[in-house]
Amino acid sequence: MNESLEHIASCISGYDPNALPVAQAQEFIARLVPRVQAVEMLPIRSALGRVLARDVMSTIDVPSHDNSAMDGFALRGMDLADEGPTLLPVAGTGLAGQQFSGAVPPGHCVRIMTGAVMPDGLDTVVPQEFTSAAGDGRVSIPHGIVRTGDNRRLRGEDLALGETALRAGRLLRPADLGMLASLGQAEVPVFRRLRVAFFSTGDELRSIGEPLAEGCVYDSNRYTIWAMLQRLGVDVIDLGVVRDDPAALREAFTQAAANADAVITSGGVSVGEADHTKRIMAELGEVLFWKIAMRPGRPMAIGRIGGERQAILFGLPGNPVAVMVTFYAFVRDALRCMSGATAEPLPLLQAACTTGLRKKAGRTEYQRGIVSRGDDGRWQVAITGSQGSGILRSMSEANGLVVLHHHQGHVAAGDLVDVLMFDGLV
Ligand code: AMP
Ligand code: MG
Repeated sequence: MNESLEHIASCISGYDPNALPVAQAQEFIARLVPRVQAVEMLPIRSALGRVLARDVMSTIDVPSHDNSAMDGFALRGMDLADEGPTLLPVAGTGLAGQQFSGAVPPGHCVRIMTGAVMPDGLDTVVPQEFTSAAGDGRVSIPHGIVRTGDNRRLRGEDLALGETALRAGRLLRPADLGMLASLGQAEVPVFRRLRVAFFSTGDELRSIGEPLAEGCVYDSNRYTIWAMLQRLGVDVIDLGVVRDDPAALREAFTQAAANADAVITSGGVSVGEADHTKRIMAELGEVLFWKIAMRPGRPMAIGRIGGERQAILFGLPGNPVAVMVTFYAFVRDALRCMSGATAEPLPLLQAACTTGLRKKAGRTEYQRGIVSRGDDGRWQVAITGSQGSGILRSMSEANGLVVLHHHQGHVAAGDLVDVLMFDGLV
């Protein structure tokens, strides 16, 4: 049974829909969104960027035997001389994948390559570059170069049999694919991909290919939203530009809710909005209209929409920068949570602001910045030109968002500020 929006709101301290702090909005959304349940098995290469649905246990020891970490000579640590060089006859060679078989007589060593199995009884490897030939097939090892156990990799030191290798909720990265392969695992259980439908609202919007009539703009939000969704690895359903017409809006919302887990719209949610978007949202679902204490991106609609099959609705503002900022502030984490991923806060970089910034305490501001190395070698951030919420160029030129937190006031030149870097994010 879904919790009602009123109930969720009652659990959020400081909940005020008309001046909602960003943190409270995030908390609300985290409680609202359901997680996908369906699981599919995928070959590991197809699982990159997908969310692991079950813990993966290690079914073998990795590595499966003690082996050498270096090219050199394997020996018994107890054979190392207390003083002066150690001279050891070489009993044979062990290669990676072709181990030295047989017993190593006491006081002998074995020539060994990286990854080769440690011959029985030998516990130490001296790297080749420290040794020299001593005649009669012996090697000479200078005193003090190695201690017992050096340069030996232990069985199971990477992954031990029965250990949890990866936890459910993990977003699979390149290293994880390698680790699954090291376990010999061909397939991996992941949650099904999330389906997200989106459309733009506004009678002034034109799609690419259409002539731009007087007073009209090309719809850019569908492209930024599409691109941000691609980076999240969700399946997208692009429903185009929907006219400000009740029937068209009803049809779009109904179709979206029937086919997707989440619906993202842009435009039509601001306070003075004359169009029908808000009314149709409220009619077709359980929707709240927020004024968030943030800039850009104050108005936003949130809730559930649809009939029997409900989807989560994110009604984003229309301004192109506000769309991207609200997506990163709210939608990104929410969709990852819906995908089954464990929450992982994004790291913030601290950089010295090159100029002073005016900032009103009591709201979160996201300014677009360019982070670079200063002459002193430290990170610095410069704000990209005009910060108007319609100026998409400010996003395009930036490599990060300067996050001025809720309680923060004016920033003086040289002050450290938090920056959410786009790399890894977009
Ligand atoms: P709204 O929130 O609908 O009042 O829109 C705010 C501003 O964003 C208006 O200037 C709109 O023209 C603009 N806008 C809304 N949707 C889009 C879009 N999809 N692409 C570009 N600009 C948009
Ligand atoms: Mg509009």
